[in-house]
Formats: sequence, C-alpha cells, structure tokens
Amino acid sequence: MHLNLYSPLADGYKSNSQKIRVLTELWVGKNIFCPSCGKSLDNYENNKPVADFYCLECNEDYELKSKKDSMGKKIVDGAYSTMIQRLQSNSNPNFFFLNYDKDTYNIKNFVVIPKHFFIPEIIEKRKPLSSSAKRAGWVGCNILLHNIPESGKIFYIKTMVFKVKIRFLKNGERLLF
Ligand SMILES: [Zn+2]
Repeated sequence: MHLNLYSPLADGYKSNSQKIRVLTELWVGKNIFCPSCGKSLDNYENNKPVADFYCLECNEDYELKSKKDSMGKKIVDGAYSTMIQRLQSNSNPNFFFLNYDKDTYNIKNFVVIPKHFFIPEIIEKRKPLSSSAKRAGWVGCNILLHNIPESGKIFYIKTMVFKVKIRFLKNGERLLF
C-alpha cells in the first residue's frame, strides 16, 4: 500500500479543496478494499449526494471524509438536518476517515467507521450562521469522533503504519460489519 496521496492527475486543480477531493478519492479507489467483504470498491459519479464509494459485491456504501494535520476530536460536516435524516434512513453509509499531512501528502490515519456506529448521538449541531452570513440561519454539524467507541473505529492505517494484516492475523477472521 502506497501511503502518499500525491498524483499528477490533480495538478490542474486550482482550488485546494478540489485537489484534495480528487487525490483522496483516487487513493481510496486504488488502495482500499471493502471492509465488509474484501472486494475492491467502485466510485459513485461525482456530485451524487448519497455516498462516494460502493461495493458491487455486498452493496455497502462508503462516504469519504478527509482532514489535514491531526485526527482531532471532531470533523466538520454539512447540514445538520440532512445528516440526521440520513442517519435515520436505511441508506445510511459507512464512513471512511482519511487524515493526511498537508505539506507532504503522507497519509497518517485511515479509519473505517461502520454505519451502525453512526447514530444521532455522535452528531453535534453547530450554531446557526449569523444574520450577516451569506447563508444566514443555516445550521451545520460536527461529527464527534470521541463519542464513537474504540470498537467502532477500524484503523487501516494508524500513525502511518499499515494495520490491516495485523488485525487479520490476530482475529483470524475478516473484518465483518
Ligand atoms: Zn463488499
């Protein structure tokens, strides 16, 4: 497994967030297998709001979030109401969390959080945007990583060490959801 995000395919992007989006999706598509069945993952077409990746074999959906520097305690996400609706629907996705170094593009951590750990209790409602903001009154959310139990965080890569083989050997079984 290659623990660096860089690819010349993203060189043409001016916006850094777009660039990161392209790089992280490329990397996951190439390096990450379905944690549920072990098969390779496919990309959803861009801008599909449901999820980023899916597995043809077992129909699981995966959404990718990335964050630079450190894992931290929370991940900033989109609209609060949309998030809660998704968690309560039966199409809620599993979650991939990728943490990278913004200068070297090295991948520091890669975690899978199975969908049954994605419950409203880990979603924090942010304050509505102020009246001077472009989207005044809009309410976003944070995903509270520290509210997820350790058993709900499956590390593929932890502090730049590839973990999956160790886990396979120790448990003698596949990572089942
Ligand atoms: Zn699968």
